[in-house]
Amino acid sequence: MQLHSSSYFIPREGNDFSNLFKRVRIMPLYSFPHIKDMNFKILSHDKRFFVHIDFDAFFAQVEQRDNLKLRGKPVSVGGMEGKKGIVMTASYEARAMGVDTGMSVVEAKRICPELISVPCYGPKYEAIMLNLLEALKDFVPEDCIEQYSIDECFADLSGVVKNFYEATKVANDIKRKVRDLENLTASIGLSYNKTFAKLATKLQKPDGLSVVTQENKDKIYSMPANKLWGIGRRIEIRMCTLGIKTIGELAAANERLLKKEFGINGIIFRKLARGEDTSEIVLKEKKEKSLNHYHTLSEPIYKSEDVLKEIRRIGEYICRKLRSKDLTAGYMHLSVRFENLTYASHIVKLPFFTNDDREIFNAAVKIYGKFRKPCEEMKARQFGMGVYDLHLDTRECNLNLFEKKIILPYYALDKLKSKYGESIIRVGIGT
Ligand SMILES: [Mg+2]
Repeated sequence: MQLHSSSYFIPREGNDFSNLFKRVRIMPLYSFPHIKDMNFKILSHDKRFFVHIDFDAFFAQVEQRDNLKLRGKPVSVGGMEGKKGIVMTASYEARAMGVDTGMSVVEAKRICPELISVPCYGPKYEAIMLNLLEALKDFVPEDCIEQYSIDECFADLSGVVKNFYEATKVANDIKRKVRDLENLTASIGLSYNKTFAKLATKLQKPDGLSVVTQENKDKIYSMPANKLWGIGRRIEIRMCTLGIKTIGELAAANERLLKKEFGINGIIFRKLARGEDTSEIVLKEKKEKSLNHYHTLSEPIYKSEDVLKEIRRIGEYICRKLRSKDLTAGYMHLSVRFENLTYASHIVKLPFFTNDDREIFNAAVKIYGKFRKPCEEMKARQFGMGVYDLHLDTRECNLNLFEKKIILPYYALDKLKSKYGESIIRVGIGT
């Protein structure tokens, strides 16, 4: 169901619509999981209640949960012992020693010599998040849940609670559920808009629950302005020169001055700081299960060099599509249709999750080895390629952990290509 802005849900009681535009007592839905499938009607705007759920030091916490030897120790996830790479998440023990996300592992080891660096395993973390999203359906309907990142999500409780007291109870139940289900801790922020809910989460970590209402929003106002969505280092510096350091100062700043300095963004920042964020739950497109691409040739081909050129081109296209969706693939298939309309196809498991042109090409070349002879004899008319077992790309930006191979700056190359055309730049992969 699509949400309109400034609206909330109540369960529809029979066919009686008389209550539709009145405040009515709303039964807490979370205590009646069986009414998940009931019809919901949109009510005019009133109070809103959003929770933001954020796993604490997520990757590190998961690794410490799964490996007794890591518990209570400074741990960083991402990068390999003694090798290049960056810290993707640091355990609280490591953070206490000054290790931070984004730091190189070498640097982190210098600050904290006892640091244990473990590799990142994206599919495991992703599965935990998917379990949480599934569990949240016991509290709110599916279309009131938004996955924000691999370790954060929002839920709109507006249709299932009528005040902050009830909302806090639900938030506590969600925390308990996370612990029971995954034996992990998450911090939760509860507020009347998404921005404040996300900021509230930062107030108490780990294992926190922070509630920000209209009455106690001073808690948010004293936070630095750069904690707000969209305020990066450059904007932060410009705001400082205007005397704006905190969210409260931003909320109180002159609107015209902000517009002059930052354009329309200035007005948006001020609105967010004032708690006037009216954004709703964003529903993700259904998760992609596979990506395919087929290309029929105008002239049949049979020479190896032509075939390799063709499968390389299709592979590059598939990889670019994967990257545009921030995905990596675990399997790929290559198919070929011959001029006599017979067909051959083969699927292989990729050595690791990837969206690297070179890896896909290497796998395709291996499969082509099986088709080479029939290609020469029967001539190929169409090639197809597909990738499966798709997962969010959670790898480090510069190093492939499994192969210890430098990942090329594909995302930057893709931007160039979409701006200047396919032929502007090509990666050399040996053909
Ligand atoms: Mg987190």
